[in-house]
Amino acid sequence: MTAPVRTRTSSELIQAEEPVLAHNYHPLPVVVARAEGVWVEDVEGRRYLDMLAGYSALNFGHRHPALIDAAHRQLDRLTLTSRAFHNDRLAEFAERLAELTGQDMVLPMNTGAEAVESGIKVARKWAYEVKGVPADRATIVVAADNFHGRTTTIVGFSTDETARSGFGPFTPGFRIVPYNDLAALQAAVDETTAAVLIEPIQGEAGVVVPDDGYLTGVRDLTRRADCLFVADEIQSGLGRTGRTLAVEHEGVVPDVLLLGKALGGGIVPVSAVVGRREVLGVLRPGEHGSTFGGNPLAAAIGTAVVELLETGEFQRRAAESGAVLREGLGELVGKGVVGFRARGLWAGVDVDPAIGTGREISERLMREGVLVKDTHGSTIRLAPPLTITEDELRCALRSLEKVLAA
Ligand SMILES: *Cc1c(COP(=O)(O)O)cnc(C)c1O
Repeated sequence: MTAPVRTRTSSELIQAEEPVLAHNYHPLPVVVARAEGVWVEDVEGRRYLDMLAGYSALNFGHRHPALIDAAHRQLDRLTLTSRAFHNDRLAEFAERLAELTGQDMVLPMNTGAEAVESGIKVARKWAYEVKGVPADRATIVVAADNFHGRTTTIVGFSTDETARSGFGPFTPGFRIVPYNDLAALQAAVDETTAAVLIEPIQGEAGVVVPDDGYLTGVRDLTRRADCLFVADEIQSGLGRTGRTLAVEHEGVVPDVLLLGKALGGGIVPVSAVVGRREVLGVLRPGEHGSTFGGNPLAAAIGTAVVELLETGEFQRRAAESGAVLREGLGELVGKGVVGFRARGLWAGVDVDPAIGTGREISERLMREGVLVKDTHGSTIRLAPPLTITEDELRCALRSLEKVLAA
């Protein structure tokens, strides 16, 4: 086997993208060519600590040996059947994912947005068939500053003008209330409400952690109002916050969980709607589907991801290293950091705008060998692989301190 011949430099590759690639992203000027664990390497061989981890799609780091091994073994046997036939990997994936999350049934999909769309369809069907909402009257209550994906229905209930504008007309049936406000939620819920759809922690909004009691309040309120609690754990779930699910911090069990990102082990897109039998049971053959959802390669990798989480090791590491992260960020408050929110290995850090925008800080950190992503304004988001060592984490924090002091 011969190594691929490298013909273009990083800057040549960045320039080559410009005329041929849709401009829907503004990436940092780094061209990654290989990676292992928490480290990525660019075309010129420069190494960077990955403090973003693919927005939590890489919770186990790049190319975790157990996940790569599961993928290789499956690649050599069977990759795709479509759901027209059964495959020999799907039952185990569903059994173990349901067991891990304490739910009954699994609807396998591919991307996060598809899981959200599927959750919306299931909630509406449940509202008509079980709750008895009159046809086409179902509403779903969502939170301001949400991020649930990029489809037309989903951006239709976003409050981010950049994500929305120019893409209408939008799907009706959504009500938007402020996040972390139980009174507003209570006022928005009525006999037409199929579900309350929220992120237990709002990631894209800047890792916004609601007050203690909010998730419990949402659970109580939805139970009293006879509507579903749908928790979008696509970014917050699967170990990131120091628990398998972010809702566990309040001991809350939603009716429906939306999972994605880390479920694919950083190898393939894998998402799922996981829920109670009375809810997911409303779907019958032909009513919903996906050509790739539940494919044997995805199921094999997803099963290996669940297997890693079954040990509890990654949740424990996120909690322990998370304490180091929180302490380190605490020391930077007043030294360029004006505030931060953190849970587990996940933090939104507000930098003094006088020092720079989130984008500028991210570029300076990149030159120090640390990759992060701004959210908006002067907020940067830290979400390293859960496998990061405390030394590596301290190293990243020192780079941040240096950039803020410069
Ligand atoms: C990333 C994300 C999504 C969308 O997932 P895609 O795989 O990009 O479609 C939905 N909800 C949350 C909370 C996310 O972080």
